[in-house]
Amino acid sequence: MKRRCPYCKMKIPADATVCRYCQRDIPPLPPKTCGLARGLLLTMAFASGAVAAGLLYGYYRERLIWENR
Ligand SMILES: [Zn+2]
Repeated sequence: MKRRCPYCKMKIPADATVCRYCQRDIPPLPPKTCGLARGLLLTMAFASGAVAAGLLYGYYRERLIWENR
């Protein structure tokens, strides 16, 4: 995988930390795990939301049964 140096626009390896053309420090690429972690976080948020909704639904259903008694 290649990318371009943000300073001289030359093609450099994606994991390069120093540009071989202009010798400037390259900010490291955001790791791919970042997107993965975000997806995991989103999944966890969704799951916890589903659990909360399920608990709420269960609570209301139980209360309805309790009230009809
Ligand atoms: Zn460069």
